[in-house]
Amino acid sequence: MPQQILVIDDEKSIRSLLRQLFERQGYKVLVAANGDEGIQTFNENSVDLVIMDLIMPEKDGIETIRELRSLDPDIKIIAISGGGILKPDLYLKLARKFGALYSFQKPIENDKILTFVENLFGQSPA
Ligand SMILES: [Mg+2]
Repeated sequence: MPQQILVIDDEKSIRSLLRQLFERQGYKVLVAANGDEGIQTFNENSVDLVIMDLIMPEKDGIETIRELRSLDPDIKIIAISGGGILKPDLYLKLARKFGALYSFQKPIENDKILTFVENLFGQSPA
């Protein structure tokens, strides 16, 4: 079974971009448009990694990270953010504090996030 990645982002273009990027490498990708949908998808599937947008309208990423970690303290999470009311930097630091392994600022550099994920899983998606 290939590793399964769950992308939670309110922006459709980011969901599509990350889906394409990781599916091309052989990963399985699930997507969710908000925190609640993300948590539901997480509960219904076996998820190896969550890529989490921090700024979302209904339930923000930090809150979602905290919920995910209460469901599974070992879940691997990568945070992504384009900024918000606070400086994007601050959100990304907050995400790390609440247990994200790493955080990437948007626009996401495909090579960087891919390399990070491949190292996380030990190169091969299968
Ligand atoms: Mg967003």
